[in-house]
Amino acid sequence: MEERDFYTESEQTFKANLNCPHCRQVAEYALRWAVRKKKDSLPPRANEQDRAKFAKFQSYMVRKDDMASCQNMRCRKRFEVSGIQSVVQL
Ligand SMILES: [Zn+2]
Repeated sequence: MEERDFYTESEQTFKANLNCPHCRQVAEYALRWAVRKKKDSLPPRANEQDRAKFAKFQSYMVRKDDMASCQNMRCRKRFEVSGIQSVVQL
C-alpha cells in the first residue's frame, strides 16, 4: 500500500500574514493547503507491514501556495512565501 492509502485529502485555506519583500507591506493572505487526514481504519487488504506504517502515520498538511501576489496596489509583485512551514503535523 502507498502512503496515500492512509489518508483522505482535502483542500483548505488558512490565512497568514506575509511581508512583501519588495514594498515591505504586511498583509493577510489566504494560502491553500492539502490537508491529509488519517483514515479511521485501513482497508482489509492491508498486511502486517502496512498496519505498522499506518500506526505511525500522523495527519498532516502540505502548503500548496509557494508564491503570493502583493496586495499593495502600487506594488502587486509576486513574491515567495517565506517564514511559514510547508509541512505541518496535525
Ligand atoms: Zn509589495
